[in-house]
Amino acid sequence: MTGTTSRNRKARHCRECGGALASPSEKKIGRCADCPASYDEALFERLREWRSARAADDSVPAFVVFTDATLQLIAEHRPADERELLRISGVGSSKLAKYGDDVLAVLAGKEI
Ligand SMILES: [Zn+2]
Repeated sequence: MTGTTSRNRKARHCRECGGALASPSEKKIGRCADCPASYDEALFERLREWRSARAADDSVPAFVVFTDATLQLIAEHRPADERELLRISGVGSSKLAKYGDDVLAVLAGKEI
């Protein structure tokens, strides 16, 4: 690892097969629609469930909590603590303060 910082720039090439990405949704997730996911899909689903519950509690749309792309990155990288979570694209210090404990609890397999 070279420690290069990744920005929120949208990907042009699939991170699985390296092929060019055509649609906006493919660019958002950085992967072709038909390439297999490199993240844990069961974990991603648990994160989505947590997000809908949390968004309902806070009376905000789900994407305000986290976007699908951010949840996929979390499911892929499985950050172990707040410092690692903060490295995920889409997670800033205010989101970390609001949602960090919940996300880490979901990652740890706890019931929220
Ligand atoms: Zn691909």
